[in-house]
Amino acid sequence: MGQRFVLKFGGTSVGSAAAMSQAADIVAAVCRDGHQVAVVTSAMSGVTDLLLGSAHAAVSGQRLDVVERTAAIRARHEVAADALGLEGDQRHLVLDPVTARLAELSLLCDALAVLGEASPRALDAVGALGERMSVHLLAAAVRQRGIAAHAVDAARVVRTDDSFLAAVPLMDETRRLAAIELLPLLEAGEVPVITGFVGATADGVVTTLGRGGSDYSGAIVGAAIDADEVWIYTDVDGVMTADPRVVTGVQTLESLSYLEMSELAYFGAKVLHPKTILPALERGIPIRIRNTFNPSHPGTLVVGRGDDNGGGLKGVTAIRAQSLVTIAGRGMLGVPGIAARAFGAVARTGTSVSMISQASSEQSICFLVAAASAGIIIAALEREFHHELDRRDIEDISSLEPVVIVTVVGGAIKRTPGVAGRIFSALGAAGINVTAIAMGSSECSISLVVDAADADRSVQCLHGLIAG
Ligand code: ASP
Ligand code: MG
Repeated sequence: MGQRFVLKFGGTSVGSAAAMSQAADIVAAVCRDGHQVAVVTSAMSGVTDLLLGSAHAAVSGQRLDVVERTAAIRARHEVAADALGLEGDQRHLVLDPVTARLAELSLLCDALAVLGEASPRALDAVGALGERMSVHLLAAAVRQRGIAAHAVDAARVVRTDDSFLAAVPLMDETRRLAAIELLPLLEAGEVPVITGFVGATADGVVTTLGRGGSDYSGAIVGAAIDADEVWIYTDVDGVMTADPRVVTGVQTLESLSYLEMSELAYFGAKVLHPKTILPALERGIPIRIRNTFNPSHPGTLVVGRGDDNGGGLKGVTAIRAQSLVTIAGRGMLGVPGIAARAFGAVARTGTSVSMISQASSEQSICFLVAAASAGIIIAALEREFHHELDRRDIEDISSLEPVVIVTVVGGAIKRTPGVAGRIFSALGAAGINVTAIAMGSSECSISLVVDAADADRSVQCLHGLIAG
């Protein structure tokens, strides 16, 4: 019996005619094995940056810059259409929409130039254009392999709220729309090729799911059509145990749990958009990360529970350029509301907090933010707590940078006693000083703050604990 798969291709997988041909070969092979396939695609690599760059250039009145970027985007698609050998109707089917989208870009940029500012809503209208062009090329490449494929604008399928630049999918409505727009095609053995990254509100206003969001689209579509698996095609074999630029001897993981994957995605392993796990987890749909350019490699499977061989530590990641902010004072002991006020003040600066730690003595709270935000955070906290500072209930608000958060991820941290001990012994033996620690209640990761100068050495040393 055939299964139903979503195949999502990232920007490099559709970055040229050669890459698109590889992607289309993969789609055709899965179809020929008797499976139903829905494809989700990114924009051609670099195009989203060019589009958003045009919007910013328009706002600052650099017309020529807009014209140059538009020409570059047009050339990328035309060169690919030529290299694919598209002719006649098939060429029109691809390049007419490109011309139409670039005309839209020009109108939008004119409007932005007049306004002198770009709203999140306008940026989404511009940013979404890349997928709304690439989708036609990939659909044509699949058709060249004798398989009926149709470009589908996700604005017709993925219903979202109106949080522009980071829209939230409305799954019930998306399911209903997918049943109308996608299921009939799939059941007829045809292939919808859907724009990743893009959605629309109930009023039909285009939204995006945030940069890198086409992975998330893959999982949203997978959940909406009850896919058996979602395959995320990228340009590496799968999830690695560490960054190969930092550590020698990294391995590609065979499998991971959803929880482990979300910790890795959050803490800096850039293979998957962190939200991708959510729709998959809700419906228990496995995600497989695979390499478009090495299609016989099985990739990394993300499922309910990862395999646990060898003690089950899965990866080590680092978030760099962080600042450790400390609020300390004996007058904080037992006073409710200090943490709420501190994080409220931080939130009002629009900064996100990457790690938090407080000891039970309640005499200090420390947390981490991007080092670039340290100045505004300290100023905001001093304003919030000026009474407490005057009364010396709080004695110190300070920051330390640059520091790095090193995170070890693995389900074994929860199940195996002594893992934390091994981590600290390894660091101790290497003479690395740890400034702060946090272990999430998911108990599937431990994060440690170290001096930036010790970051690479910490990652290397902890990678040694991951059993081969
Ligand atoms: N094209 C979008 C971006 O570059 C979405 C994606 O590729 O995932 O952010
Ligand atoms: Mg991506």
